[in-house]
Formats: sequence, structure tokens, C-alpha cells
Amino acid sequence: MKSKPKFETLAIKSIENKFMDSKPVSTPIYLSSTYERNEDGTYNNNFIYARLNNPNRMILEQSIAQLEQGKHAYAFSSGMAAISAVFQSLKTGDHIILPDDIYYAINKLVDEVFIRWNLTYDLVDMCDLKAIKNAIKPATSLIWIETPSNPQLKISDISEIAKMAHKNNIICAVDNTWATPVLQNPLKLGADIVMHSTTKYFGGHSDVIGGCIVVNNNKIAKKIKAIQLLSGAVPSPFDCWLITRGIQTLHLRVTKQSENAIKLATYLEKHPKIEKVHYPGLESHSQYSIARKQLKNGFGAMISVLIKGNEAAAIKISTNLNYFTTATSLGGVESLVEHRKSVEGENSSTPFNLLRISVGIEHIEDLIEDWEQALQK
Ligand code: PLP
Repeated sequence: MKSKPKFETLAIKSIENKFMDSKPVSTPIYLSSTYERNEDGTYNNNFIYARLNNPNRMILEQSIAQLEQGKHAYAFSSGMAAISAVFQSLKTGDHIILPDDIYYAINKLVDEVFIRWNLTYDLVDMCDLKAIKNAIKPATSLIWIETPSNPQLKISDISEIAKMAHKNNIICAVDNTWATPVLQNPLKLGADIVMHSTTKYFGGHSDVIGGCIVVNNNKIAKKIKAIQLLSGAVPSPFDCWLITRGIQTLHLRVTKQSENAIKLATYLEKHPKIEKVHYPGLESHSQYSIARKQLKNGFGAMISVLIKGNEAAAIKISTNLNYFTTATSLGGVESLVEHRKSVEGENSSTPFNLLRISVGIEHIEDLIEDWEQALQK
């Protein structure tokens, strides 16, 4: 160069990453959207453009694959984006079987978006193997399981349903959001696809939205990867970083939250103002034996209760609580409570008196005392 660079050029070129060879213990956040080529035209680690891949997403995907004991993991910008990728991998005109107690936005997604794919579906009670068998049609290509289900905590037998699916040449997918790999590994039980809303327990602090798909089968993996890269519903490096940071305490949090949840569920079950408690760790749960077989290290941190009285009484109790924030979502360190039907809308089959509880890591005595005062008022 003949002349010294001017201010404008310096403002760009004086900023240089000189620390490539240092070894930070905590993972850095690589916000760069693009990566420099080597002189021979190659790219180190195959990082070219951040939508295609980037260090934070790769670190996250490799971690989730290991935790779910799967070969391939793909991160998405939300749980719904991950689910959409699975539906997009199907053929037009396919039929899918969905749980009758599924996260409400998923059948809405088929009704309002995948209708143009001509995807049809039946809502089936996934606790009833006969009902699932009867719902299978020649065009059925996917059985979707959500266990425990949202919001009524139904438990379905993953290995039995996966066997039935495979006998009929059908893919079996499991939404493992509520169990997490701390409690349940669906791929080990025979499922082909595991999906997570990483917004929940993986993130763990209610400050990030994300999703992922984990698979072993290379053919399914290729389809999901193409959808991830080309549709582009990918999480930002910062979101990936937040979720990987959450993963480091996932086991501690889920174990503690599950311990708190079973104590709270046991207390609530005996309370005269509670009509019914849905929690798979209670012997009164109708699929308790499957839950014991399938869930390891605890029964999860979600509880649903039916309050004696009308809808207004249920809502009133939720707002009487001090340590349970009335908000949607779940899986964070803080306890939340929600009147579910009013969130799900008119077509919801959720009981009018159901409150959904996400149990956090607070002291259990405080949480029980809070319910005691809220139910007394
Ligand atoms: N699956 C389950 C079981 C959920 O509870 C949710 C959200 O609450 C989702 C999927 C959707 O995930 P996201 O909100 O990250 O898109």
C-alpha cells in the first residue's frame, strides 16, 4: 500500500481478532455472519455463512445429540420451527396421527398452514394403543407422541407405539420437551425423531426461544438438515450460546424441579379444594406404571390441577399465588401458573377449571405455603 489508511478504512481494519489461539474456558459468542476463506479457497471447520453453520450452533447441536443419544441434531429458532421442519419433510397428502392432548398450537399449525400441504390428521388418545392402531390409514406417515402431554400430563408408551409405527412403515416422533433427556431418551425407546422446545428446560431461564430435532436415521437427517439450511428458521449464535449455557445446569435444575413437583403434587392431591391432580409421579395417575417404566430420575416439573368450582374460582386462585407468576410457558427456574383454557382459545378441550403449574427451584416449603394461602382466600 502506497499511502497510510484513512480514518474510515482504519475504523474497519483496526478491528482484528488477535486472540484466535487463546483458549477461553467459557464458550465465546461468534456473532460473525460470514467467514474468511483460506488462500486455497477452503474454509476452516467448514464455517462459510452463519445460516449454514456457525460455531455456537454446532456446539449446541453436538451437545443435544449426545444428551439424546442420537447421531444428528438440528437447532431451530423455536420449537414450532422444529415441528414445522418435521411436517415439511412429509409428502403432500400424507396423514398424521396427533395426540388428543397435544400442545394446542401444533394442530393449529396443521389447520392453518399445512392444510396447503394437504396434510390431514386425526387426534387420538395416545394412552389407548387400540385407538392408535385403528387410526392408521394407508397415507399415514407419522405418529406424533407428546409425553407427558400438554396440559393434561397423559403418558404414552413410547416403545409400544414406536413398534406399532414401524410395523406399518410409519415414522414415530416424540416431543420430549416436558421430560427432557434427564428423564427420558425416546430414541433409546425406539422413536425415530425427538423434538424439543429448547425454550423450556434447556434454556431454563425464560430468556430465549429455540427448538431442535434429533435423529439417528441418515435419510430423515438429510431432509431435516436441508429444511433447516434452506428455510432458514435458525437460532442466532447468541440464542445458541444461551441454550448451551442452560444445558450445563439442566440436570441440576430438572432434578430439583422434579423433587419439588412431586412434593407439591402430593400436597395438592390431599387438599379439599382440589378436584384432581394430574402428575405422572402420583400412584393415582392412570398411566403411573408406564411413567415409572419410562421416566428415569423423576417425573418432571409440570403439574395440572382441577380446582373445585367454576372458571373464575380457578383464575382467582392463580392470582392469589405470590411465588407462582401467572404467565404462560414453562421449564424456567421460576415457578409459573396458568389458566390454560383461556390461553388455548374457544376450541380448546382443556377443562375450564384447569391450572397448569410449572414448578421452579424455589424452596418447596415456600411453594406449598403459597398454595395453602391461595386456596384459603
Ligand atoms: N411442544 C411443547 C410440549 C410445548 O409446550 C411448546 C410450547 O409451549 C412447544 C412445543 C412449542 O415451542 P416454542 O414455543 O419454543 O415454539
